[in-house]
Amino acid sequence: MPKGPECQVERCKFPATTMHRLKEPSGPFDFPTDVVICEIHKDKLSDSATEWVLLNEGDGSRRLLVGPMLAELNEFVVLAPIKKLTVHAQSSRVVSHADHNGYSVPISVRRRGGEEETLTLVLPFDALVETADFLQHIAQRGRMRRTGEVDEA
Ligand SMILES: [Zn+2]
Repeated sequence: MPKGPECQVERCKFPATTMHRLKEPSGPFDFPTDVVICEIHKDKLSDSATEWVLLNEGDGSRRLLVGPMLAELNEFVVLAPIKKLTVHAQSSRVVSHADHNGYSVPISVRRRGGEEETLTLVLPFDALVETADFLQHIAQRGRMRRTGEVDEA
């Protein structure tokens, strides 16, 4: 007896029973998001609170990650703009390597597929200016794109 298609959620081996559209396209060139899935994932994905990511791989294949599986992406969504940066006084902390020292930048994040937490980046003093310039450049381009100005750079 021929076997029907399996659920397209990664590592799920249950038979696919239904076609599900993850997201309505917002333009004609959007990737299609129709997937065939099992009953369990149909219930999960029908809940708008469920987090998922559909990855379109270079070779034309797709991977659908749902919920805690997203942790494998090792990505952190920044929950609020960075507005704080501290420097520990030399008298309060001594580190073994000078280049392991710098500005402490606490960032409120949520790991994809996980919980909220605070990460603290330690940005070496020398790296701050270059990082700030880079982010400033990105921000400027984003602003121009939003206002419809042409980026001459
Ligand atoms: Zn499934």
